[in-house]
Amino acid sequence: PVVLGIESSCDETGAGLVRDGRLLGHAVSSSMDEHARYGGVVPEIAARAHVHALAPVVREALALAGLTMRDIGAVAVTTGPGLSGALQVGVAAAKALAYARGVPLYGVHHLAGHVAADTLEHGPLPDPCVALIVSGGHTSLLLVRDLARDPIVHLGDTLDDAAGECFDKVARVFGLPYPGGPAIDRAARGGDPRAVAFPRPLTGPGDTPWAFSFSGLKTAAARWAERQRTGGAGLPLADGAASLQEAVADVLTRKAVAACRAHAVDTLVLVGGVAANSRVRNLAGERCAAAGITLRVPPPWLCTDNGAMIAAVGDLLIRAGAAPAPLDVSVDPSAPLTSAALRPAQRAT
Ligand code: ATP
Ligand code: MG
Ligand code: FE
Repeated sequence: PVVLGIESSCDETGAGLVRDGRLLGHAVSSSMDEHARYGGVVPEIAARAHVHALAPVVREALALAGLTMRDIGAVAVTTGPGLSGALQVGVAAAKALAYARGVPLYGVHHLAGHVAADTLEHGPLPDPCVALIVSGGHTSLLLVRDLARDPIVHLGDTLDDAAGECFDKVARVFGLPYPGGPAIDRAARGGDPRAVAFPRPLTGPGDTPWAFSFSGLKTAAARWAERQRTGGAGLPLADGAASLQEAVADVLTRKAVAACRAHAVDTLVLVGGVAANSRVRNLAGERCAAAGITLRVPPPWLCTDNGAMIAAVGDLLIRAGAAPAPLDVSVDPSAPLTSAALRPAQRAT
C-alpha cells in the first residue's frame, strides 16, 4: 500500500508518501522563521503553525506524487518524542485521515524515522548496522538489527546536550541567526579548524567509549567568543566556528567508527539534522574509508525533519507484519527509543 507519513514533532510539518521502500512524493513546511526572534522553538507557535500547514503539506505531497487521498493504504505518524502540543496536531490529523479512509494507523518513533530516512536514498539497511543519530535533541549511537522487528540497542547517548543543541546555543553567543547549525556551517567556511584547541569530551582512555558530552564544549566556545569580544586575540569568528565544528565532527566520527570496529559491524548510518553538516559528512567519509567501513548518509533534506522518513518507517512496519496502532493512541513526548513502532510491534500471524 501507499503509506502517508506525517511529522509534526518540532517546527517542521512534513508529509511523505512511500510504497515498498520508494519515495513517491513529499512536502515540508517550517515555522523556523517564526521562532527566529526568540532564539529557539516556541512550543505554542510551533503547534499553531502545524494546524495551518498540515492540510496544505499533505495536499502538496499528494499532488507531487500524482495521487489522491483515495490512493492511501495506511497512515503513519510521529507519536513521539517531541513537543506535546506539536505532536498532538499531527496525531489528530493522522487519526482523522485513517478513520475517514478506513485504513490502518501506525505510531512511529521520530528517531527511528531519522534512521529509516536513509533507506529512501540507499535502499534497505544491512543487518546489523551501527547508527549515529545526531539531531537537535538527541545524540545516540545505536546497534540496529531489523529496524521494524528488533529492539534497538543503545551503545551510548549524550550525557548532557545534543550535538545540534550545542551548535544552536553556541551560534547564539556567536551572534549568528537561528537555527544555529546551518549558520555555524556557513560561518566556518574559510575558517581555520585548528585555530582554537577546543576540548574533545569523553575521548580519553578512561572515558566511557560510546557516551557523548557537549555541554563543556558549548561553554568553552562561549568563553572563547567572550574573550574575542573583550579584546582578546581578536580571531575571526570563522576560526571559532570552524574549530567548534571540527571538535564536534572529530568526537562524533571517532566514536562511531570505533563502535563499528568494536562490534564488528561494517556499515555506519549517519542521520539526523547534524548529519547535514558539511564537516561531519566529510570527516565521516574519510574515517570510514580508512577503516573499511561503508558509510551511509542521507542527502541533507532527508537528515532534517520530514514526513517521508515517517512514511518509510510505516512502510517497513507494514511489510514486517506489525500490528497497527489503535485510533485512541496517544502522544508520548519523551518516548525512549527502544523500537521503531511506538506501540510494541506485535507480529500479525
Ligand atoms: P530531534 O530529532 O532530536 O527530536 P529535531 O527534530 O529538532 O530534534 P532535526 O530536525 O533532526 O532535530 O535537526 C535539527 C538540528 O540539526 C538543529 O540543531 C540544527 O541546528 C542542526 N543542523 C541542521 N543543519 C545543520 C548543519 N548544516 N550543520 C550543523 N547542524 C545542523
Ligand atoms: Mg526543525
Ligand atoms: Fe528530528
